[in-house]
Amino acid sequence: MSAKVWIDGHFVPRDEAKVSIFDHGLLYGDGVFEGIRAYNGKIFECAAHMRRLFDSARAIRLTIPYTPEEIEKFTYETLKTNNMSDSYIRLVVTRGVGTLGLDPGNCKRPTVFIITELIRLYPHEMYENGMSVITASVIRNHPNALSPRIKSLNYLNNILAKIEAADAGVPEAVMLNTEGFVAECTADNIFIVRNGEVLTPPASEGSLEGVTRGAIINICRGSAIPIHERRLERHDLYIADECFLTGTAAEVIPVTKIDGRPIGTGKPGPVTKRLSENFHKLVRLVQN
Ligand code: PMP
Repeated sequence: MSAKVWIDGHFVPRDEAKVSIFDHGLLYGDGVFEGIRAYNGKIFECAAHMRRLFDSARAIRLTIPYTPEEIEKFTYETLKTNNMSDSYIRLVVTRGVGTLGLDPGNCKRPTVFIITELIRLYPHEMYENGMSVITASVIRNHPNALSPRIKSLNYLNNILAKIEAADAGVPEAVMLNTEGFVAECTADNIFIVRNGEVLTPPASEGSLEGVTRGAIINICRGSAIPIHERRLERHDLYIADECFLTGTAAEVIPVTKIDGRPIGTGKPGPVTKRLSENFHKLVRLVQN
């Protein structure tokens, strides 16, 4: 049986799934999306993903033609149809089909689709030994231009930074904000550890409020590991004892080199390892 995707209420074989070339999601990047994970048949932090999806849609003045409960139900149905219990789920809502011209008023109805896939973002070896990243010269969008808190279909800002990472031979890039402070990476949030404290920039520094980031903050709070949302300079990254990234696809991945400089001992540190273990315990725990 070939894999199926859910589009606007129908299951379609994945190779036959299509959207119109007049869809404003394609013409203008006008839409929002979520990257979600299912572990053992259960959607991880479903409510948080639904909240962010609906907040993102509201921020771009897009009305999703379903309730969060309906979207959740369709997502579970897509997992079931594809017989998947562990999956990366891509949930997309575009402005829909319209005319050539920016005006979303010409788009009659949003297009909604759900893809369930298997994903491995980074090689296993990087989880063991750590990953190298660079800081990109491209900065994160100014919040008053397009807020990085919106998970929109307009990822060109991040893609330009990702190309810089690829040029430098590394898989991820740190992005600074308009003031030169650390915001996040192209598709992951960033944390450092310094003197036993875990630090991450607040969302107001120009980062997405990552669901994995939220889970890590809760794990820290629950296990009495000091955690603070704090403005970070690139200098703070360079002098950190440890550094790691979080994301739905990446989970928790240690960073051991930034701009060619070893971080801490140059090996994944104890706090990163502990948080990663606790994260994996949590995703298993939630499911049982
Ligand atoms: N920042 C950006 C720009 C992202 O696209 C993502 C999601 N891939 C994240 C951070 C991490 O967020 P989450 O933990 O919700 O996947």
